[in-house]
Amino acid sequence: MKKSFLLLVLSGCMLTTNGQKPEETEDWSKRPNIVTPGKGTLPPSDAIILYGGSGDIDNWVHEKDGPATWEAGDFLTVKPKENVDNGIKTKQAFGDVQLHIEWRTPDEVVGDGQGRGNSGIFLMGLYEVQVLDSYENETYYNGQAGSIYKQHIPLVNACLPPGQWQTYDIIFKAPVFNGDGSLHSPAFVTVIQNGLLVQNHVELKGPTEYIGKPKYKAHAEKLPLMLQEHGNPVSYRNIWVREL
Ligand code: MG
Repeated sequence: MKKSFLLLVLSGCMLTTNGQKPEETEDWSKRPNIVTPGKGTLPPSDAIILYGGSGDIDNWVHEKDGPATWEAGDFLTVKPKENVDNGIKTKQAFGDVQLHIEWRTPDEVVGDGQGRGNSGIFLMGLYEVQVLDSYENETYYNGQAGSIYKQHIPLVNACLPPGQWQTYDIIFKAPVFNGDGSLHSPAFVTVIQNGLLVQNHVELKGPTEYIGKPKYKAHAEKLPLMLQEHGNPVSYRNIWVREL
């Protein structure tokens, strides 16, 4: 009998360590759902599609009030409005999610620093993953593309040149609050930009603040996803989420 065959037979039937059997550490409690993975631009079978490129902006409304007014065709494009924030948010609210979103800053480079291709993905409408043209465009590092705005510098600058489509795959764990409004557990986020890890399960210190330190304030378990209008015609496409 060959040695490898003998080992196979032994491990398959009765090998024990300290009286324990291999079956004791097998977990049969929860059978994972079967999901068909996405392919190319096709999302996975259990994804909620937030923008698929049909020109249908029905899943979105204005960030404060009224209908979404961004240009909607094969992709969504920010429509800046003078003196008024003109971001859009989903009608549906989300907590823990896996989010896929593709974005493109304008081909024609205008402005610099925070003024070049600025937008943002606000998880729960509160926690910003920065969108910015950070290709050969310096700004404070916790404000460049791939940053958690004013909280975490990205691990690398994974930006493509302006005018090219870029991807974010984001895994977000929502914060949890106690009954008395105090923080039970903070939010965590992981971001992969164009296939590169830029945020590795970082802890959020609170909602995104432009000025001053972030601080948690109790909020609902689920809130809409918001896309920021920051004066620049940034585009988005192929947006889907999986609730976790
Ligand atoms: Mg922004």
